[in-house]
Amino acid sequence: MKETVVSGIRPTGKLHLGNYFGAVTNFVKMQYDYNCYFFIADLHSLTTHPTPDDLHGYVRHVLVEYLACGINPEESTIYIQSDVPEVAELYLYLNMNAYLGELERSTSFKDKIRSQPDNVNAGLLTYPSLMAADILLHRATKVPVGKDQEQHLEMTRTFGNRFNRLYKTDFFPEPYAFNYAQNLVKVPGLDGKGKMSKSEGDSNCIYLSDSPEIIRKKVSRAVSDSGPTSENQTKPEAIQNLFDLMKIVSSADTISHFDSLYNKMEIRYGDLKKQLAEDMIIFNTPIRERIEELSKDTSYLRQVARHGALKARESASETIREVRKLIGFKSF
Ligand code: AMP
Repeated sequence: MKETVVSGIRPTGKLHLGNYFGAVTNFVKMQYDYNCYFFIADLHSLTTHPTPDDLHGYVRHVLVEYLACGINPEESTIYIQSDVPEVAELYLYLNMNAYLGELERSTSFKDKIRSQPDNVNAGLLTYPSLMAADILLHRATKVPVGKDQEQHLEMTRTFGNRFNRLYKTDFFPEPYAFNYAQNLVKVPGLDGKGKMSKSEGDSNCIYLSDSPEIIRKKVSRAVSDSGPTSENQTKPEAIQNLFDLMKIVSSADTISHFDSLYNKMEIRYGDLKKQLAEDMIIFNTPIRERIEELSKDTSYLRQVARHGALKARESASETIREVRKLIGFKSF
């Protein structure tokens, strides 16, 4: 039996290189060896209160982009989270055994309190329970996610194990983060600090659908500094970030060329950024062209979403049937 894999991405905008290298590239590679469920996490995105039009538009974007990146709907199950209501039911059950203290300690919750202090809703607090429900719903063991999701996965294991203990069962297996790269990937943003993230604004992200002109403009404005002040010095975060971005799109020769210029204090960031932008464009172009193509094909998108929802609900309803039995819901 193939191991089961689950992963999703929130439709809060278009996919960026962080999503691609942290998650989607693994989706594409895994689909032939595992039983894969890849979903569009539209329920998760409600924590930021999108308008109905934005919500639908972003879901469509992510669906198109999943397909453009090479996820094959014949091999893996691609579905929209809100098409599978069983996830909301499991979320409710898991919330009954998720404690305030542990939810408040989640790093992502603390980040959100800082970034959206006027909208600290219960959905943000219970985000880890919904993510656990997404994964446990298909009893997955592998979850291709970026490094930023490690803590959520640990909480998923806690919630699954707690359910197992409470109901004296081994129904839920333990899921672990998965990445084909040796270490979990963290793609930095262009603002000189932290990861590439939509919540840090469009100028911090390179989207898969960005045109060459936009990529050149964004990269030329990336944060750098006034240059190294001694030979072989450790790179400050903003500069290390530019090199880390090169690692994902540029050749080893290019990286070592700029690395040695940096170490000799001869680097010109303008040249590095130009090269980085061109390598990003080479990487993005075939994906962007497929995005443009697929965006026009509404009937195909509808067919993929319907087919995915049916397949996902088959597995989800099996889990819910068993969970209800374990909890003790019985019909008269
Ligand atoms: P999100 O956009 O937060 O819904 O994240 C969707 C997926 O992309 C998750 O698997 C994240 O781990 C991954 N991801 C998002 N941003 C990054 C990043 N900057 N580096 C690596 N992975 C990321």
